[in-house]
Amino acid sequence: MRKRILVTGGAGFIGSHLSERLLGEGNEVVCVDNFFTGSKENISRLLSNPHFEVIRHDICFPLYLEVDEIYNLACPASPIHYQFDPVQTTKVNVSGSINMLGLAKRLKIKIFQASTSEVYGDPAEHPQTESYWGNVNPIGPRACYDEGKRCAETLFFDYYRQHGIQIKVLRIFNTYGPRMLPDDGRVVSNFIIQALKGEDITVYGDGSHTRSFCYVNDTVDAMIRMMGSPDGFTGPVNAGNPEEVTILRLARKVIEIAGSRSKVVFSDLPEDDPRRRKPDISLARKALGWSPETGLDEGLQRTVEYFKSQLYP
Ligand code: NAD
Ligand code: UDP
Repeated sequence: MRKRILVTGGAGFIGSHLSERLLGEGNEVVCVDNFFTGSKENISRLLSNPHFEVIRHDICFPLYLEVDEIYNLACPASPIHYQFDPVQTTKVNVSGSINMLGLAKRLKIKIFQASTSEVYGDPAEHPQTESYWGNVNPIGPRACYDEGKRCAETLFFDYYRQHGIQIKVLRIFNTYGPRMLPDDGRVVSNFIIQALKGEDITVYGDGSHTRSFCYVNDTVDAMIRMMGSPDGFTGPVNAGNPEEVTILRLARKVIEIAGSRSKVVFSDLPEDDPRRRKPDISLARKALGWSPETGLDEGLQRTVEYFKSQLYP
């Protein structure tokens, strides 16, 4: 049966891929976005679809709609953007989540939260399992995002316990792919653009810190499986690619895949930058039957092709 699905942040990087996938599965999608980091271009191909609707709205203000499910993604995700107006970042995670949880409560519907590996902060446990409580600096420059997302999880679980609504919390690890913003400072887009333009590749620190990168189609697949999991299954569940790489190795891979002559240059590591990050995805495998299908090389190749077509149309 066709469902009407609300996607907050639906004009963003992950939200636009999710909306496309949900429409492809025969649903109606209502995309709510204030276009802070999202764009009409991201959803331009969807605008002619009669089952797709866009509402320009900031979820920090109440929203009254009739829908069957909610995916809550609204929140800037790159450090440059979430630190641009840190108070607004906390607000979207707290007031925005309360508004969306209130909507879910009124309509008695399921609500999905796009949580993040950032809830683990600079992790003292490696790899990270869902039972790890994290190591977050509550007063640092990343806190608006990390603590905001932690508080959003608290709100989701309190609405679940207090009001009995169905919640689905997924902790998403670094995701990359087409439609990342070229100028949002995230490592994959930065490196690819630098490589394609023949500019220096800017590695912060000595490049020995790590991340685990998941291709966007795999992340979207995990999100949809999480939403479809049995009633009463709340998560949190980690979704990420356990293929951990150092940032220096990523830089070398991007140079090779882009066929670039760029050189690697080193500069200071930003404050509170997590040193290591790798998901333990045993729970996602068991509860959702999910594991990523796209390896880093293949995903980077597709992303390089995308940025090439953007830079040199
Ligand atoms: P993005 O910045 O591309 O998308 C966020 C979207 O939310 C944008 O379209 C933006 O305009 C919109 N938005 C922001 N504030 C809003 C508000 N107050 N009201 C309505 N819309 C608002 O980021 P993304 O990478 O697509 O991330 C989507 C979600 O997934 C975010 O919640 C992010 O925290 C989470 N996440 C992303 C990653 C990742 O690696 N990309 C990892 C973990 C979690
Ligand atoms: N990074 C880097 N050079 C860049 C951009 C980022 O070395 O041009 C590093 C950054 O310090 C971090 C990692 O790459 O250690 C991932 O950064 P990103 O902002 O993409 O994600 P996050 O830190 O939120 O995981």
